[in-house]
Amino acid sequence: MVEVKNFVQGETGEWEVIIGLEVHAQVASQSKLFSGASAKFGGEPNSQVSLVDAGMPGMLPVINQYCVEQAVRTGLALGAEINLVSIFDRKNYFYPDLPQGYQISQYSDPIVGRGDLLVEVDSGYTRKIGITRLHLEQDAGKSMHDQHPNKTFVDLNRSGIALMEIVTEPDLRSAEEAGAFMAKLRAILRYVGTCDGNMEEGSMRCDANVSVRRPGEPYGTRCEIKNLNSIRFLMRAIDYESGRQVRLIEAGGSIDQETRLFNPDLGETKSMRSKEDSHDYRYFPDPDLLPLRLDSDWVAGLRERLPELPDAKAERFVKHYELTEYDAGVLTSETERATYFEEVAKGRDSKQVANWVIGELLGRLNREGISIERSKVGAAGFGKLLDLISQGVVSNSLAKKVLDEMFSTGEEAAVIVERKGFSQVSDEKQIEKYVQKVLDENLEKVEEFKNGKDKLLGFFVGQVMKLTGGKANPQMVNKILRDLLSK
Ligand code: ADP
Ligand code: MG
Repeated sequence: MVEVKNFVQGETGEWEVIIGLEVHAQVASQSKLFSGASAKFGGEPNSQVSLVDAGMPGMLPVINQYCVEQAVRTGLALGAEINLVSIFDRKNYFYPDLPQGYQISQYSDPIVGRGDLLVEVDSGYTRKIGITRLHLEQDAGKSMHDQHPNKTFVDLNRSGIALMEIVTEPDLRSAEEAGAFMAKLRAILRYVGTCDGNMEEGSMRCDANVSVRRPGEPYGTRCEIKNLNSIRFLMRAIDYESGRQVRLIEAGGSIDQETRLFNPDLGETKSMRSKEDSHDYRYFPDPDLLPLRLDSDWVAGLRERLPELPDAKAERFVKHYELTEYDAGVLTSETERATYFEEVAKGRDSKQVANWVIGELLGRLNREGISIERSKVGAAGFGKLLDLISQGVVSNSLAKKVLDEMFSTGEEAAVIVERKGFSQVSDEKQIEKYVQKVLDENLEKVEEFKNGKDKLLGFFVGQVMKLTGGKANPQMVNKILRDLLSK
């Protein structure tokens, strides 16, 4: 791994931006962390609230084993230590959307300890980012201020939903690195299926801690930007905030440790409150919950049954399918993509398949904002299109038009080729006629070619393809052109 110096230039010299993230990932579970109420997104307000979630007196929390299992599986996927004993604490604070008056969280003894994540940054380097811990906690409800002119409503559907809070070391050095980290973390969570990673629905969101320092100096005072719900906002917030801090310090000011909010419309962060210290929360072990003890064989079993993870899969794709690291990275960034590729590649030329999936299919999917699982072009149908190319039935360029059509109608490639009359002309006699016609119409150029202007071959090929509406087999056109021109 290379040493990367990611400094930003201020008025008075260079600065280094230091970032640590706290990511909240909702456990993909049907029920909540301590109750059996539904954790489904989008229900009528307060329709998924048990007495425990509403903080009714005398209600006792009961730990959801499935959620514990997902936290452990996530920890294993992050190569992190699993703590066989962990403790649930009460984090006390008072807010209308928190009916218990405390949040059950983990403080001194989280379920998952130190781990690492390898992050490939677009600028072309890889960094290892330390994971400090992962702990389980409950989500709070939601205050709704926009329903009534002078009342605030509270929706407790989210109250008690299981979250994994994943905290990083202050190892990130730029908005780009932070964005790449989030994308990689989301990919891993989706691979193991412990969180759907859907940032729009709030199942994954993050707080960014940002400070700046002169290269080589100790860390500066940080600000925490709360509740960023897209990777783009995270990156913009970091860029704005680090710029603000640099300007402030350079103007002779100093940074107050505080909690800030990012306003995406203005592209600015603004102060929300001064940062509370952990003693403000008066943490103490929740007397309603015993320490959580895990069986080491059970953990070992979960480790064994973990699916192949993105890094391992990418490495296998490079070796087995002889792909470049870049292509392997693109194809393994989502488990559905990787599966799709492998299905199409079965018995076909893997490099051709990779080129078509990345260059043609993903391009079209991105443009339409459709995920590969929802594509009308399934792996089997896509494979058949590639077969038509390798069998010489349809040219590369017409195959792209066929794909456009398949993409919007979901029809089979062969049906479209037939209907549109896209079949490639591979009849030698017929192609010869076209070639002869082009040569007859361009006698001057033929002369120039014969006098050594080799580049004109491309011109002739182009003319023949134009004449045949792109249907002539290009290899044959080339060969016949050379034959006729050398006469
Ligand atoms: P808290 O829970 O009060 O926010 P933590 O000590 O758990 O505090 O740190 C939270 C996050 O802040 C971590 O991701 C950590 O990496 C990050 N962090 C700590 N110090 C700095 C700093 N000087 N600059 C940027 N990030 C920091
Ligand atoms: Mg924090």
